[in-house]
Amino acid sequence: MACHAIRHDPALSPPYFVDSIHGMAAPDVGGGETTVKILGYTYRVEVVDSDAMDAMGRFQSRRQRLQIADDLAGDELLSTLLHEVIEALNYHLALNLRHAAIMALEAGLYQVLAENGVNLAPLLENHETS
Ligand SMILES: [Zn+2]
Repeated sequence: MACHAIRHDPALSPPYFVDSIHGMAAPDVGGGETTVKILGYTYRVEVVDSDAMDAMGRFQSRRQRLQIADDLAGDELLSTLLHEVIEALNYHLALNLRHAAIMALEAGLYQVLAENGVNLAPLLENHETS
């Protein structure tokens, strides 16, 4: 399961404002950029140099970015993206989930989806921003 390294301790200031800028521009993977729409917000998915990011993924609310470390693959990659989506839901819906709950939802949802044939890979495909 993706271990989202904890830069943000839920006990401290809002865990979701992880806006320290370690991110770099995502490699351009063809036309358009990879985006995920979440509750009406269009988040850009960036693949970030893992050496520059001490986490597998990061949710950046103010920059509307979901960042994923570039050394992830397969299940770890998709599970981490799902984790960041849950972070975004937690933020926008003010759910105040503890990080442990986000981790558990990631693991549980990913297991159910993946083992029942739901392909999450299209989340990482390019989408028109509109
Ligand atoms: Zn997290």
